[in-house]
Amino acid sequence: MSSQHPVIIVGAGLAGLCCARELHRRNIPCLLLDAHDQPGGRVRTEVVDGFRLDLGFQVLQTAYPEAQQQLNYKALQLRSFFPGALIRTGGRFVEMADPWRRPSRLFATLFNGIGSFADRLRLARLRWTVCTREDDSLADSTTADFLRHTCGFTPDIIQRFFRPWFSGVFLEPALATSSRYFRFLFRTFALGDASLPAAGMGAIPLQLASTLPAGTLRLSTPVASVTRDSVHLTDGQVLTGRAVVLAVDGPSAERLSQGILKSPAACSTVCLYFDAPKPPLTDPILVLNGDGQGPVNNLCVVSNVVPEYAPPGRSLISVSVVGLPAATDGLEQSVRSQLTEWFGAQVSHWRLLRTHRIPWALPAQPAGFRDQPPGPPATVNGLWYCGDYQQTASIHGAMLSGRRTATALADSLIAR
Ligand SMILES: Cc1cc2nc3c(=O)[nH]c(=O)nc-3n(C[C@H](O)[C@H](O)[C@H](O)COP(=O)(O)OP(=O)(O)OC[C@H]3O[C@@H](n4cnc5c(N)ncnc54)[C@H](O)[C@@H]3O)c2cc1C
Repeated sequence: MSSQHPVIIVGAGLAGLCCARELHRRNIPCLLLDAHDQPGGRVRTEVVDGFRLDLGFQVLQTAYPEAQQQLNYKALQLRSFFPGALIRTGGRFVEMADPWRRPSRLFATLFNGIGSFADRLRLARLRWTVCTREDDSLADSTTADFLRHTCGFTPDIIQRFFRPWFSGVFLEPALATSSRYFRFLFRTFALGDASLPAAGMGAIPLQLASTLPAGTLRLSTPVASVTRDSVHLTDGQVLTGRAVVLAVDGPSAERLSQGILKSPAACSTVCLYFDAPKPPLTDPILVLNGDGQGPVNNLCVVSNVVPEYAPPGRSLISVSVVGLPAATDGLEQSVRSQLTEWFGAQVSHWRLLRTHRIPWALPAQPAGFRDQPPGPPATVNGLWYCGDYQQTASIHGAMLSGRRTATALADSLIAR
């Protein structure tokens, strides 16, 4: 195919955007198509009645190595969460802070009644290990097994602290996710901040897209099918490309590749956003359900972290449910009853703004999913591909996958 034709990338999520940026950096023209009217895929923000609502609760870890390379953090005006969490357990809230970054909270954390004193030493050892010598040759296991058997944590601290924290990250409650991925994430939590851009998570893809030449990104352009050098749009148009990259989510990749690429199983979530006349807490802190009862896994007063997420005088509350309850009917009511136990009658004054049901939020990453790490990206039947399901289910993984595919594709074009 002529070098006059652009490389066509299908999907303008973080993987597709980073793929396009890398090709552009290497002077390879490309065209980036997306079905949606905004770039970003799973990282988007909509404005509802003056509130900024991200597509489900998510945060940027400033320690993600790929995000550090790709993003201008200063321009995103990042605001950080408190390094730790508030845990709802046995009818009260207790704090679990990161004592390395909040030494003044050491005493409260040591005596919060969760786990044993030996668990505090195990936490220190885990932190030290993942921060100083990450060892990829360690056998992979489930995160649950790793915490209990490799690290020796007590069931109490696993159930009341690690389980709600990491089921909110993995979006699966059994902690069956790879311990290798857990260690990577634990390190990012220890070395950086969980943060949000002032304008919402959607500012991340918008910043990436703003660096592409005009005309590269074509939105509201759904793709019906692809070949190794053409893309067929749902309106009947056919575009010819020098190469085609599938930068879509797992299920779309499986469909567009006619089953050659296999989508991993999905981890799902429901996120409910409430408008509150006053915040139930004043800190920019994540609240975890340490009792394991009720639909709510974690909650956050997002406007305590980023005041710009809510109009003046109002508070934005995000509530995350892990998994996909069969019907959303009744979910709001059961969430309200649980939160009334936590915060009292004020919950009746909260107004539901939106309920986001996200069936394919993250690809499952069970233990062993990276036992044979992928080599340099290659083609399947002549098609290139990237996405979080090819790396890790994260902003970091999606960006890295996009850049690596662009690098391999550029090398192959030079070699032709
Ligand atoms: C609720 C939730 C919480 C999360 N929390 C975090 C978090 O806290 N931290 C973190 O690091 N990560 C988090 N993630 C994961 C992170 O958002 C994703 O891993 C990442 O955004 C995936 O990017 P991607 O480019 O691989 O895929 P996607 O974002 O899915 O992009 C794929 C793109 O392809 C487009 N597309 C699909 N089919 C077609 C077609 N036929 N034609 C044209 N376009 C098509 C889609 O419109 C989409 O824009 C979360 C995700 C969700 C949903």
